[in-house]
Amino acid sequence: MKVPLLDLNAQYKPLLPEIKEQIDEVIASNQYILGPKVKEFEESIQKYLEVKYAVGCASGTDALILALKALEIGEGDEVITTPFTFFASASSIYRVGAKPVFADIKEDTFNIDPEKIEGKITDKTKAIIPVHLFGQPSEMDKIKAIADKHNLYIIEDNAQGIGSKFDDKFGATIGDIGTLSFFPSKNLGAMGDGGMCVTNNPDLADKIKQLRVHGESPKYFHKWVGLNSRLDSIHAAVLNVKLKSLPKWSQMRRDNAKYYYENLADVKEIILPKIHSKALTIYNQFTLIAEKRDELLNFLRKNDIGCAIYYPLSLHLQECFSYLGYKKGDFPISEKLSDKVISIPIYSEISEEQQAFVVEKIKEFYAK
Ligand SMILES: *Cc1c(COP(=O)(O)O)cnc(C)c1O
Repeated sequence: MKVPLLDLNAQYKPLLPEIKEQIDEVIASNQYILGPKVKEFEESIQKYLEVKYAVGCASGTDALILALKALEIGEGDEVITTPFTFFASASSIYRVGAKPVFADIKEDTFNIDPEKIEGKITDKTKAIIPVHLFGQPSEMDKIKAIADKHNLYIIEDNAQGIGSKFDDKFGATIGDIGTLSFFPSKNLGAMGDGGMCVTNNPDLADKIKQLRVHGESPKYFHKWVGLNSRLDSIHAAVLNVKLKSLPKWSQMRRDNAKYYYENLADVKEIILPKIHSKALTIYNQFTLIAEKRDELLNFLRKNDIGCAIYYPLSLHLQECFSYLGYKKGDFPISEKLSDKVISIPIYSEISEEQQAFVVEKIKEFYAK
């Protein structure tokens, strides 16, 4: 038996006829950048996430850069985020000329620890970027209280969490701006790169729309230096079809998680992911804290079970960020988890037989 970490073929198979029809429409229209398909998709996201504005762009990374630029964050400013995340959460801050400042995470949820944020705030701090890691929203009630108290913006990096909720509100819609990624392996993935900013603020939405086309408005007149970062029509066409299945896919992932919770509960060498009582997760990943992690990874891979380490090196220890002056030991929880986490297959279409095989092999590994 083979169990991949993600099986995009299984996801696309039933949708391909409709997707191909949609792509044919794009080809017939000759409108390849933005255009009606992108508008339709933006409106569908607005409806799905119960948010007023959605602005498509070229990637989740660009969505973060556009959000920071729209809030006029740049040189001399500091932005607080987590060191335990995908690189772009911090590189976007660097890209706009600001300084990434890290705050350690909570061991149970892998998300930024609200208690560790206030100590990092200086008179240069402009924003907090909580990341809804592995599909679970950060503790937005506490983070929002801190942001309000210190007059800071919140950009939610929701690249991994589309459809997740905190306190019954959709992730990405709680702060000032939320960002999405449609990278192919995200829960809602395009057939290439894509991203989006969402906000309830009409001025910010307008500004992001200008910034994604070089900051122009009207055409050939530039108030700001923006980016060239648009969502392509073909991707929007694909995403329009796929979005209809997303709530079902998220539920399937939660059902798959339930299987692991029930069947891995007695393995004392691993800790299963904890979900905050106010959070609804979409399980972009199912991530264990495991003893003998590297050996387990090798063993599972040898048995044709796809697994991965998200993330093997905390961002404060990345070579490119050495200028920030962090050292080993600065964020002990993030560093510890880098050595202990392993993500196992949780994709919607995984069969019960495949999950049983994963469980069997994990148990076999620790019984040795
Ligand atoms: C994927 C991801 C991004 C970047 O998205 P891209 O579309 O790949 O640019 C940003 N932040 C997090 C947490 C991500 O997982």
